[in-house]
Amino acid sequence: MANALLIFKPDAAYRLAARAGIWGWLASERDWKVESLAWFQPPPSLINDHYDFLQGRPFFPWLVDFMTALPVLVGRVTASEDALKRMRHDLGETRIAQSRPGSLRERYGIFGGLNCLHLSDAAGTGEAEVARWAKFVQLDRVEVELEDRTQQPDHTYHLRSLATQVAGGIHVEAASQMIRELVAEECELERSELESLWRVTLGALS
Ligand code: ADP
Ligand code: MG
Repeated sequence: MANALLIFKPDAAYRLAARAGIWGWLASERDWKVESLAWFQPPPSLINDHYDFLQGRPFFPWLVDFMTALPVLVGRVTASEDALKRMRHDLGETRIAQSRPGSLRERYGIFGGLNCLHLSDAAGTGEAEVARWAKFVQLDRVEVELEDRTQQPDHTYHLRSLATQVAGGIHVEAASQMIRELVAEECELERSELESLWRVTLGALS
């Protein structure tokens, strides 16, 4: 069995419909098992190491801000190597514009690398990531209960359309403001946390 690290990134941890949809998939435990789940706010040093291979890329400062701005949901799953491949298939491609129709990222990701979920890409990386993260957060028990449905609206596709405008330099002010309003409707967050989520969401578009 392979170990894999799973992270609900801030866009999935707080947008409640996205979180419920992703949890519905994960909790099906089709051919994997969720071994742990916990809230944890990673320090920048951990994200620097975790995404070491991306250092120097233009989006890297945003990526570190995205992954450290708020507590995220971190877990461990076990699966056979083949099942892990199938989970990555269900997840979809990294960048939202390329993500396969019907995949989790196509369904819930907003734009670019604002893509909901981290999942180790193979058994070897899974082992290394689990060992690294286990020094910071417990990866042995499920200590968070998530809902697989919510009253909160799901504005993913509207957000994607607005994000495309902002990234293209079209109606930037109006579209950014509407993104703030729609994200706020999807979440139940205090103002200061909402502002962090707005910052990393809009930060993906510049
Ligand atoms: P994955 O998460 O699909 O395994 P990578 O490991 O290549 O993808 O990249 C890690 C994360 O970095 C991505 O999930 C995404 O959030 C971000 N990222 C990677 N490439 C890009 C890109 N070209 N533009 C914006 N963000 C990116
Ligand atoms: Mg990866």
